[in-house]
Amino acid sequence: MNTKRDLPIHIQGVPALEDNYIWIITQGKDCIVVDPGSADPVIDWCTQNNLQPTAILITHTHHDHVDGISLLRNTYSASLPIYANRCAKLTHLFNPVDGETTIDIGTMCFQILALPGHTPDHIGFYLKEKQALFCGDTLFAGGCGRLFNGGTPEQMTLSLQKINQLPKQTALYCAHEYTLANLRFAAIVEPHNETISKRLAESKIKRMHGEATVPSFLEEEQATNPFLRTETTHVEQAINQWAKQTTTTPSARFALLRAWKNELDATGILEQD
Ligand SMILES: [Zn+2]
Repeated sequence: MNTKRDLPIHIQGVPALEDNYIWIITQGKDCIVVDPGSADPVIDWCTQNNLQPTAILITHTHHDHVDGISLLRNTYSASLPIYANRCAKLTHLFNPVDGETTIDIGTMCFQILALPGHTPDHIGFYLKEKQALFCGDTLFAGGCGRLFNGGTPEQMTLSLQKINQLPKQTALYCAHEYTLANLRFAAIVEPHNETISKRLAESKIKRMHGEATVPSFLEEEQATNPFLRTETTHVEQAINQWAKQTTTTPSARFALLRAWKNELDATGILEQD
């Protein structure tokens, strides 16, 4: 007879709200829900697939990552465990976790990574046996999160470096479908990087067919994501040229690159072909 440990683990993205993905990690009939910004798509998926949520993981407490918690607890169990940063301001009772520790849920073991920057309380969950990182709004496919709630460029720079040190095959499960706009920006920063233009073209085709462009793999982010490439000559030169100054630290380069992207985001130009 199979034990639960032998059952394969599957990871499914459920689109929610405008452009969020809620990740559902399934083993047998149990599942773990990551960042439920809305409950309905999770309940629909679980009903269709005869699944029972056994835990909720929260990367940070922005509403589009937590607003589904109440209805999920009402639907499945008032004591459905929630794991969130010890510092998280969450209105629900939860199991506090700290960075650089591990938690066991069922047969799965997650390593917690402190990833402050997008928010000061942001964490990631690394599921070693799948080489999967649930990185919330820290690293996106082709880009990264903005700084909110007092998160600093120094924090974000260290968090991105921490992700950058994971195995190259790590699958990155971020929480938004922002890939096309991110890669259009990447192509502006590095107009001669053919790996970026190829990835952008492939991602456009996926989106045309309604397919998700995430997860992506760390190796492809290292080759195409400007926020992981601020220390390469071309990206550093592009940042200095845009900012008309000579940067001397990784966090200064990150801050300017982020400001550059924010400026273009505001024009709407990255949303168009
Ligand atoms: Zn967020």
